Formats: sequence, structure tokens, C-alpha cells
Amino acid sequence: MLDRFERYPLTFGPTPIEKLDRLSKNLGGKVEIYAKREDCNSGLAFGGNKLRKLEYIIPDAIASKADTLVSVGGVQSNHTRMVAAVAAKIGMKCLLVQESWVPHEDAVYDRVGNILLSRIMGAEVCLVDEGFDVGIRRSWEQALDEVTQRGGRPYAIPAGASVHKYGGLGYVGFAEEVRVQEKQLGFAFDYVVVCTVTGSTQAGMVVGFAKDGRQCNVIGIDASATPVGTKAQVQQIARHTAELVNLGTEIADDDVVLLEEYAYPCYGIPSEGTKDAIRLCARLEGIIIDPIYEGKSMQGLVDLTQKGFFPDGSRVLYAHLGGAPAINGYSYTFRDG
Ligand code: PLP
Repeated sequence: MLDRFERYPLTFGPTPIEKLDRLSKNLGGKVEIYAKREDCNSGLAFGGNKLRKLEYIIPDAIASKADTLVSVGGVQSNHTRMVAAVAAKIGMKCLLVQESWVPHEDAVYDRVGNILLSRIMGAEVCLVDEGFDVGIRRSWEQALDEVTQRGGRPYAIPAGASVHKYGGLGYVGFAEEVRVQEKQLGFAFDYVVVCTVTGSTQAGMVVGFAKDGRQCNVIGIDASATPVGTKAQVQQIARHTAELVNLGTEIADDDVVLLEEYAYPCYGIPSEGTKDAIRLCARLEGIIIDPIYEGKSMQGLVDLTQKGFFPDGSRVLYAHLGGAPAINGYSYTFRDG
């Protein structure tokens, strides 16, 4: 589905699929849980889901003759860290707007983790006092104008690389890759569990799995705590991407499954359930997940398994999308382990 799109390689290649035996057993042993390790997808600044998306966006940035990548996210955005890494890799400048999306408690929240890495990679980081929103941001539009006023040529990458004409393509590729891996494994996954905020990760998967009618088996776990807007954004990106890749079938509203009950208390703040899921995954599998995104989707996976949402014998693929560097901004949360 992606052959006619130019791709700038930023990842190592297909990501490994790993069986989580101890977690599966701990959750009753009736469901087999696997992880697709998108967190280990690249040597660029700890990797993560944004690189699959950027692989299809960067050729457009290079063709535009831009000299500066301009993007936006929260203070501990993984996405902005990935844009900083890619800018360094391709020899462009980088301007990042980091908004105060999270009512955090750590004293060094704006100095460690993702934002620290972006600064080290040479990005210009602007802290802006604006609340959470998954849509197009005024602060980001102003940053684009600023680059132009300084005589530079900006290239605009929206939050999460999502509302971009090519934002959904990378995770269409994820679905194609899973299909190949399923052949090698000798079985197909019954469900894919994925964390959703700005939407193009799930949207790409929905389109990719729609090819063999499995789009409703992609279980999005909302971590935005603004699920109405997030779901609409996933639907819109999925429809646009389906057209782009000539899917041949329409994406219906019901094709996007987004579970809302794990995002509380708000974006970026983990509940007790999220913290428990992070500890469980770390202590049974040695896998680190973050409190903003993957902790919430793991909480969903644990709860859904315990509630019997997945029929006995199901094979469930957890997409580990990265994000571990943000854990450094949550030292108060895990003060006692
Ligand atoms: N997981 C991690 C680690 C992320 O950085 C993001 C980014 O927002 C997501 C999940 C959600 O992906 P998306 O924004 O494409 O919905």
C-alpha cells in the first residue's frame, strides 16, 4: 500500500515481536500477550512511534528546501524529542514549542528526560504557558512565522506528526509489517492494543488492518482525556489516509474503537491504576513504560484481560510505542518505587 510513497529511513527495520510470558501468566494465563517493540525501533535518541511517521514526512520536508523543522508538544513530549533527533540527523535546525500541558509536581520536569535530550541535540526549545489540546496550536503557527521573519525556511510538523498529509502512512506500514511477521509466526493476532492521543498511530493501523477486515480489532486506549476530539481526529486521519493509499473501502465511524476509561485523572498524570500497570510490567518483564502514554494503554490491557474482554485463547499484541525518557520527569510519583 505504501510503495509509491517516498520513505527516508530512520528506523532499524521491522521491530521485534516478543511474547510476554510472565505477564500473560500473571493475568490468568488464558490470553497470550505479545509486545511489538516500537520503543526499540531506532538508534535515534531512544526511538519510538514518531519515527515511523517521520519516515514518510521527511522527504517532503527535504523537497520543500526548508532549513528548520518546527514542531510542538507538551514539556515532556516524545514527539518533539524525535523531531530534534531527526533534524540533527538530516542537518536541519529545529524549533520546538513546549506547552505546559501537564500539571506536574516534579521540580525538574522541564529540565530532564525528553526536553533535556532535545536541548542536547541542539533544538531551540521555547516553553509556552498553554493548556492541552490535540489540534493545531497557535503557538506553533507563531513559531513558524518567527522562523520566516528571521530569514529561515520553516517546515511545519504538527503535534504528534498527526494532522499532516502523510501523518498516517507510517502505521499503515506497521500493519503490513505485522502481517508478514504473522506468516513467520504461523498465527494471526486477534487484537492490537494501542495508546492514542493525537491519533495518527491508531488511524494508520486502522487503515492498514482494514485491508484484511481487522480494523475493529485495533483497540485504542485513550490517554488524552479528551476522547471526543481525539476520536474525531483518528477518524479524520484514517479517512484521509485511506484515500491516500487507495484502500478501496470507506472507513466507517465504528471502525475506530477508542476506550475512554483509562485516561483519568487527565493527560500526563498517572492514576494509581496506571502506576500499578507500570510497576507490573517492569517487575514481570523488565520493560519500562511511561506514565503519560504507554502506562495508560498497559493499564487498559491489564484491566481488559482481567475483565474477560478478550476471549480465552486470544493472542493480543501490545504496541509499545516508546516514551520511556519521560519517566525522568516523574521521580516524585515513583519516589518509593
Ligand atoms: N505513545 C507514546 C510513547 C507517544 O509518544 C505517543 C504520542 O503522542 C503516543 C503513544 C500516542 O500516539 P498518537 O499521538 O499518534 O496518538
